[in-house]
Amino acid sequence: MRCKKCPQQAAIKLPQHNAAYCKTCFTEFVHSQVAKAIKKQKMFSHDDRILVAVSGGKDSMALWAILLKLGYRADALYVDLGIGNYSMQSRQKVEHFNDSVAQPLGATLQIHTLAENEGAGVKELAMMINRPTCSACGTMKRYHFNRTALEKDYDVMATGHNLDDEASRLLGNVLHWQTDFLEKQTPTLPASLDGFAKKVKPLYRLTEREMAAYAIINKIAYIVDECPMSKGSKMLVYKDVLNRLEEASPGTKQVFYFQFLDKQAKEQAATQNITAQDQSRLSPCHSCGQPTSMEVCTYCKMMTKAKAAV
Ligand code: AMP
Ligand code: ZN
Repeated sequence: MRCKKCPQQAAIKLPQHNAAYCKTCFTEFVHSQVAKAIKKQKMFSHDDRILVAVSGGKDSMALWAILLKLGYRADALYVDLGIGNYSMQSRQKVEHFNDSVAQPLGATLQIHTLAENEGAGVKELAMMINRPTCSACGTMKRYHFNRTALEKDYDVMATGHNLDDEASRLLGNVLHWQTDFLEKQTPTLPASLDGFAKKVKPLYRLTEREMAAYAIINKIAYIVDECPMSKGSKMLVYKDVLNRLEEASPGTKQVFYFQFLDKQAKEQAATQNITAQDQSRLSPCHSCGQPTSMEVCTYCKMMTKAKAAV
């Protein structure tokens, strides 16, 4: 099979785009999808300082690489969650990319280690406070992403969520009619005066398969294993269901998520800025100053409980 763009042999087939590309044209296709996402969702400009949350996985590693290739000012933050071998290996991938690619380009990597700063890894912290590991982990990550972005004066923070992540989250929210969450499921969440950094997902137009292919073709080393804590998670079931739909009917994920975004954009234009209204209910946490809808934020409550448990 030939590449859709040039006379070369195709290396990857993309049924949902009715296309097949050689390695070079596929890399250009991925870059163009990221550029389109950044422009369409008004994510950032070349003057902005971007903080990329990198996990060592294919998506966030590729995202950091792509933003640097496209000439953006992209630094990174890695949160070391202390999940045994998995965290050790993912940290190595992040540090290797930093040493070999990012640092020579003038970018920096920050590492926040839970064992050093919070006194224990996320599994142990979750156990101390009697909460499921994945929910404590989500709280920790979101807290440190936001705090670092604000304290270090970044204009925006970016995560490696891809189309599969967003479509499966949308499916989960729709199945449970969690309409509050639907409002927040946009690839760009604006900064708020109350202390939330602007958050973006520049890979929302690209699938998990495309991101894995991009990382392999461009020789970006990443941790292949999923987090051992995510085994049996609902999200993996939703992803599997969407993959089966996609196979039977290519383009399903894209239609599902993109049409949701189109409808939502129209509704928000009609009802004005729901996010701004929503965020104005927040105030600074009495303990740490980060934004919260309560007196003391979830992170601080977790840490107080964890300290009491030791
Ligand atoms: P996940 O929730 O594991 O699917 O990850 C979604 C996104 O969150 C990734 O693409 C990264 O941008 C970010 N992320 C996840 N884990 C970490 C981590 N340990 N440190 C920094 N960023 C992370
Ligand atoms: Zn707090």
